Amino acid sequence: MARFADIIGQDRAVTTLRETLRSARIPNAYLFEGPWGVGKTRTALALATALVCRTESDEACGTCNACLRVGRFMHPDVRFLFPVMTDEDDPESIAETLSEVANDPHHVFTYEKASSIRIGITRDILKELAFRPYEGRKRVIVLRDADRMREDQYSAMLKSLEEPGASTLWILTSARPNRLPPTIRSRCLKVRFRALTEDEIESYLLDRVGLGAAPSRLLAALASGSLARALTLRTENVAGLRDDALRGLGAANSGDPSRILAAAGEAASWSNREKMRRTLEFQFLLLRDLLRLKHGAPSNSLVNRDRLADLQKVAGGIEVREIRRRAALLEEVARAIDSNITPELAFFSAYARWGRSLAPDTAERAEAWPGWGRVRLDV
Ligand SMILES: [Zn+2]
Repeated sequence: MARFADIIGQDRAVTTLRETLRSARIPNAYLFEGPWGVGKTRTALALATALVCRTESDEACGTCNACLRVGRFMHPDVRFLFPVMTDEDDPESIAETLSEVANDPHHVFTYEKASSIRIGITRDILKELAFRPYEGRKRVIVLRDADRMREDQYSAMLKSLEEPGASTLWILTSARPNRLPPTIRSRCLKVRFRALTEDEIESYLLDRVGLGAAPSRLLAALASGSLARALTLRTENVAGLRDDALRGLGAANSGDPSRILAAAGEAASWSNREKMRRTLEFQFLLLRDLLRLKHGAPSNSLVNRDRLADLQKVAGGIEVREIRRRAALLEEVARAIDSNITPELAFFSAYARWGRSLAPDTAERAEAWPGWGRVRLDV
């Protein structure tokens, strides 16, 4: 069940939509645009639910018969379309996805590059448009990732978008709105959605998903403003991955060639690039923590704040310039991984130059970077 009250971080969009509901001057079409995984679809469904809710107010009551049926995708006036992998009729897999969305408030849509909104379904819907809505004020069609449609589907849609006083509201969502034909875009009222902050994602994971403090923080830091990304990553052992990433830096910092070689081999042994990138992300986040400490940021803004004492110690013995130099080394590795340079070589090259500007004495170096060889995280 989608309600405005459950949407996080999109106050501006939600306020605008609720005002529109109160004014009862509903446009023919909305385009919800903004990054992937920030609540566009949930907000679209919340708007759809409010529009057919018996209370006829600016928020779905969540308990009336109409609300309950939208929540189960069984309301005749609300249709929800999303890209699927095949053009063939596969009502079962669509019903399965709908039931997942209905039952799991943290459901994340994933599809392949070639997924698109099915032609058969849009054709059926366009036929329905000839009739009045069955029950509610409006018929609502939510088109998730509307940029994944074929040219002929858009032209069929256009007619409905242009019809004055139409009884249908289209809500298109897109993270890539410039892929939509300009004819469609120009007929939609645009509502912008923003990337979420780390704090917003962290509290969502803590309070609503029920994750522990440490994984919530790590996932929020990795999410790049997308709740969907954080939710997708939650099945991974992020805490373990962070430990591995920091252990790599511990080896780099020791200046011991055999440890560096072993650590580079370990980092590069991840069979997929995604995992190597994540290792780098954690290493970047460590440097970001150090920078934040250098600039006097509060400790609750640190991703690795469970290691605050160590971070403070390291930050005390390193200059901002040196932190930036190390970040540049990590960027080199990231570029190398993307351009098919042997990852092991890339990691080795960065790790070997990691501690160069510290004192030449190995023991001193190891001390300057305490404890990273055995990072533990309580999850
Ligand atoms: Zn209701």
